[in-house]
Amino acid sequence: MEPPEPGGGTRPQRGGTRKLGRPRVAAGRAGLGRGATMGLLLLLICLAMPATSSGELRAFVVAHSHMDVGWVYTVQESMHAYAANVYTSVIEELMKGKQRKFIAVEQEFFRLWWDAVATDTHKQQVHQLLQEGRLEFVIGGQVMHDEAVTLIDDQILQLTEGHGFLYETFGIRPQFSWHVDPFGASATTPTLFALAGFNAHLISRIDYDLKADMQKNKKLQFVWRGSPSLSESQEIFTHTMDQYSYCTPSQLPFSNRSEDFKKYA
Ligand SMILES: [Zn+2]
Repeated sequence: MEPPEPGGGTRPQRGGTRKLGRPRVAAGRAGLGRGATMGLLLLLICLAMPATSSGELRAFVVAHSHMDVGWVYTVQESMHAYAANVYTSVIEELMKGKQRKFIAVEQEFFRLWWDAVATDTHKQQVHQLLQEGRLEFVIGGQVMHDEAVTLIDDQILQLTEGHGFLYETFGIRPQFSWHVDPFGASATTPTLFALAGFNAHLISRIDYDLKADMQKNKKLQFVWRGSPSLSESQEIFTHTMDQYSYCTPSQLPFSNRSEDFKKYA
């Protein structure tokens, strides 16, 4: 059974009034999950900490973007339909509370938003949020590349393109990968990411029996050695997301319509 993926949304309307610039070529796409590509998703990372003496459980919630570049709709259609609004609303919402954090994943949409949609105020706020550590770029490539069909040259190209933009624009370099949606994980990707300087790698969609075995034996975290010939230079700490993947556990009232959620937002 396929892990559930939140999503939904409406078909993008063609045409629009805002010029968004020429779309860049994406080297791959993140996966083909039904409904996976629409809009902003919220991630609940429940890092189950030992219960405190009062019996409370500490949970850390980090919202993240998940907008598969080129899945179903063109980049321009996606920008007009939802992607531009995601970053506008994210920045505005982050500014409403110091406890709010967000990780941005797909560089393609952010870059188009930055170049043609963001106001000067938005740009100043992005710089501030980055400085405060409340906005973070993960992966930092133009896309979350597919691991089955994308050639290594294209993987490197799209990563270089995205990282170049981040460094030139903000002077930053992403520290962590976030490969939650490729359908299957190849050894090439962690090798490339280790060589690219990432501190840790995160995956989710792997063989179901393998994940069940890793869950049972508490092996969801491991050091991935993807290329024996490259030895230690390509080792990377890897975390495999647990049963909910990057989705919200269904038993939690986690939506912006929920009164329970508003208490913690
Ligand atoms: Zn996806």
